[in-house]
Amino acid sequence: MKTCKRCDQSKPKSLFRPDPRYRDGYGSWCVECHRERNSSWAKENRARLTAKRAEWVAANPSAANAVDKKWKAANKPQTSARYKAWRLAHLKHDAARVTARKAAKLQAVPKWADKSKISEIYKNRPDGCDVDHIVPLVSPFVCGLHWEGNLQYLPSAENQSKRNFYWPDMPRIENAQRQQKLFGDAA
Ligand SMILES: [Zn+2]
Repeated sequence: MKTCKRCDQSKPKSLFRPDPRYRDGYGSWCVECHRERNSSWAKENRARLTAKRAEWVAANPSAANAVDKKWKAANKPQTSARYKAWRLAHLKHDAARVTARKAAKLQAVPKWADKSKISEIYKNRPDGCDVDHIVPLVSPFVCGLHWEGNLQYLPSAENQSKRNFYWPDMPRIENAQRQQKLFGDAA
């Protein structure tokens, strides 16, 4: 056991840092005290540096602007890659949220829909694909439901052309072209 010079607690020697400068081979502060001291020092310094920088920016607006521009230019590859990754993740999330809101408005979310399964489907959407309702949520003839069994992945371009004109078991006579002629963009 050894008593820490900072917190005055008696602790096992394993809780002190080995330090050959001391006779017993261990430093005088316990590990916890070192950790505490380091983090409070970092916090104090961060606050101090931030305040100092704000002061300098206020006093030298044009120089600060130049520094800011330079930093942005130097860090552009990293920041834009990070932004892209962030945006991609959020786009997937957004698509799920927007569709869920639309389905709720249409009262097309059945009680038995499994929300976690639905969000998994949106989360795992392959790049270049959309999450599509096999039976459209809205079309002139049928209204599908927002639930995991009515979702599929479609290449984005295909989904655009599919619009709301197809669903399984669609009667032959109501083919897409005819619908498009009849309803145009109303669908
Ligand atoms: Zn201590």
